[in-house]
Amino acid sequence: MNKRISKIPNDVQDRNSVAWKKLCEYVDQVAENGSDEFVPREALGDELFSQIFTLPESIGKLKKVKKVGLYGSNLKRIPPEIGQMESLEYFDPYTSYDLHWFPFEIYQCKKLKDSRISTRALYGNYKNRMGFPKLDHNPVRYFGDKLKCSVCNKELTYETTNQMWITVHIGTDTIPMLANLCSSECEQKLPKPPENYVPVPHKGGVDLVQPLDEESQPVRIQLEMMEKRINYEVAEKQKESEKIIKTNSGLPILKLIRKIWEK
Ligand SMILES: [Zn+2]
Repeated sequence: MNKRISKIPNDVQDRNSVAWKKLCEYVDQVAENGSDEFVPREALGDELFSQIFTLPESIGKLKKVKKVGLYGSNLKRIPPEIGQMESLEYFDPYTSYDLHWFPFEIYQCKKLKDSRISTRALYGNYKNRMGFPKLDHNPVRYFGDKLKCSVCNKELTYETTNQMWITVHIGTDTIPMLANLCSSECEQKLPKPPENYVPVPHKGGVDLVQPLDEESQPVRIQLEMMEKRINYEVAEKQKESEKIIKTNSGLPILKLIRKIWEK
């Protein structure tokens, strides 16, 4: 069931490239202008934008930005600082096919009401149930050595965190999120996944049992119908037998068995 489980690449970005430097400048500019849109392709052009695989941590400064446009990007991940973008309402990384997961911190964007995310690219999506990479030994590294609990913000290290997957509905999409957790208390505070997704926080890997994907649904429906038909036939036979026993309740048992047999 878990198809195509890939490892999560860390260090995805060349931070000395012209593309990255321009992107950081653009973030500063948008923060200074107090602009409500962040669309890096417009500032960088197609060529440089295609060399961008993550966003700078400084996006946390974009307090006024309501719309993030990342259509057709080559992004592989989004940093947890997106949770500090408190005005974010619309998030559009549509057709960014390398974006398989999001940091749980995006759940802190309470104004987010609309999103456009390519479902098939997401871990655990209902269409193909792409496998979740295994999170043993906290393999996902953000930039720098320190990180924070995704729930209570407590400072953590990669040795003390407990990384888990959780699928949550946000904006207009249901998306897999990576949570860094300091304790089981914080784990229990994670939101409940919607129906038809792994119902609890988990560590991924090949042994993870996911609900059936969309393509397997017709098979399941056929099986259910077959089961119903069999149950119906069994019930009918039972009714028939009961009727015979009732109408022949005076007969000796051997005759009765023969009568049922002849039916
Ligand atoms: Zn915590």
